[in-house]
Amino acid sequence: MREISYSPELIAGQQPRIAVVICSDSRVCEYCETDFEFHPGEIFVVRNAGNSVVTCEGSVRYAIFHLHVKELHIIGHSDCGMMKALLAGNESDETIKKEMDKILNKIFDGKLPNKDVDELVIENVHRQIEYLLKDEKIRKLVEKGELVIKGFYYNFRNGKAEISVININGKKL
Ligand SMILES: [Zn+2]
Repeated sequence: MREISYSPELIAGQQPRIAVVICSDSRVCEYCETDFEFHPGEIFVVRNAGNSVVTCEGSVRYAIFHLHVKELHIIGHSDCGMMKALLAGNESDETIKKEMDKILNKIFDGKLPNKDVDELVIENVHRQIEYLLKDEKIRKLVEKGELVIKGFYYNFRNGKAEISVININGKKL
């Protein structure tokens, strides 16, 4: 097993600078958008199907309001199974369906835009950020410069990871 060390300060508590909301998809590398390898205490990670803030809202708000992270990254990726499932709309497992409906209703207002999978991935990232900025407390942190929200698109369709910033604080790039 790899040796991972912890300083006494880190044992006493975490103060990560960045929180990341990233898809659970096993093809997506967790620290893709940063330059560093994993070091304990640096990144607060929320992974779920479809890199959604609405299905893990408590964890995301914990990072923002209790850990006071300086940056929140939302990372969508090519060929996302959750986006494909939303487009197909025929999920039979009730619990999965519930999670899908939350994304559909809270993020897409009950109606998916007319897009292919990868376009929907990008739209989903934009809308997740829009959703967060509707919250007054979060918007104020962003306006004061105490929190930066960045959206990323992780594309592996060409055989290697290509990561681009597609949104900063609600501004599409
Ligand atoms: Zn995915």
